Amino acid sequence: MALKIVVFGISGKMGEIVKKLAHEDPQFELLGGFNQNSSDFTLLEKADVAIDFSLPEAFQKNLLAAKKHSTPLVIGTTGLLQSDHDLLHKVSHDIPLFQAANFSLGMALLKNLSQKAYKMFPNSNASITDKHHVQKKDSPSGSALELKECVPHATISSIRKGEEIGEHQVFFELPEERIKLSHTALSRDVFAKGALRAAVFLEGKEPSLYSMKDLLEHMLCT
Ligand code: NAD
Repeated sequence: MALKIVVFGISGKMGEIVKKLAHEDPQFELLGGFNQNSSDFTLLEKADVAIDFSLPEAFQKNLLAAKKHSTPLVIGTTGLLQSDHDLLHKVSHDIPLFQAANFSLGMALLKNLSQKAYKMFPNSNASITDKHHVQKKDSPSGSALELKECVPHATISSIRKGEEIGEHQVFFELPEERIKLSHTALSRDVFAKGALRAAVFLEGKEPSLYSMKDLLEHMLCT
């Protein structure tokens, strides 16, 4: 049976792509979605999983609506505040949540390799750069912040230019050598596909907060 999904931020750039991909794949049935004018969230009751690609201002309202209707939620919205993360952890005791600042598997690999490089070269000069399109609201990007968790001593610089979908680089400078790890998203489809994959993963799970690490482990073990 198809997985019934609803999307917060359905008319945004990411929401439109999730809609397109869900329509193309019989594995999913898109019931509809919400935008900034929505006030009736009862559609959530019919959904197996909801996906949030909206804006941080909307995040807490969306999360509480998902909780109210006991609908598992995949969260792609970035730029969340500490108070948002606190609520996220609280609500993860009630419903299954999956959060990722970047749903691409390539970015998950970049984080893994960055962590390894940090362990090998803890005394290097390390830096992270994130390049994104000019409409991107949060800076540094959520992915750059996650990379910094892997390489705590790195500095971050963010560039907002043109139509860049998302490029992240991690540099380790040593006196005799330089390591450069890089990931470039070529299409927003990669994020939407990852979010749909996370939705499939989340269905039927126990309440908890899941991440790309859990999804990767699941993919490698099945
Ligand atoms: P966008 O500005 O194109 O779309 C945002 C959408 O949110 C709009 O349709 C708007 O109507 C909607 N919205 C605003 N307030 C709302 C509310 N109160 N309730 C419901 N919807 C509301 O942005 P986008 O490029 O689609 O990105 C959306 C979010 O996803 C951003 O936070 C972005 O950084 C993030 N993002 C995450 C990933 C990832 O892999 N996790 C990838 C790309 C973008």
